[in-house]
Amino acid sequence: MDEQLWNKCVEYHGHHCPGLAIGVRASLEAIKALPINFAENDEIVCVSENESCSVDGIRVVLGCTGNKGNLLFIKNEKQAFSIFNRTTGKSIRLILKDLPEMDRDEKEAFLLNEPAATKIFDFEKPHFELPEKQDFPQAINS
Ligand SMILES: [Zn+2]
Repeated sequence: MDEQLWNKCVEYHGHHCPGLAIGVRASLEAIKALPINFAENDEIVCVSENESCSVDGIRVVLGCTGNKGNLLFIKNEKQAFSIFNRTTGKSIRLILKDLPEMDRDEKEAFLLNEPAATKIFDFEKPHFELPEKQDFPQAINS
């Protein structure tokens, strides 16, 4: 894990926690898989299925924010993220697996440092196409 990037995320979020680590790792895996870069504009869109600490990792690492209009929410309390590259049309959905029992610090370290991403996430296609921008559901700005 890039320590500088993690520190930047912790600074933004206010504390370190396993939730933040989920979002950071999901972002890094999406960057590798699609591939994509940090969204300077709105070429990368993330649809998050939860509103929790993990989303701050998405905001910092992927540059998806409510105010930019490229962070949308579907609320089903799942640690799952569908990430779309509007430039290439590629997309991926990452879903957090059930992880083995461990304490918070162990879990955070596992999420950040486990070499095999497939031990952390299931990777699949998003369940929907990204709507045209004007048809986006109301994003929750935060
Ligand atoms: Zn947190």
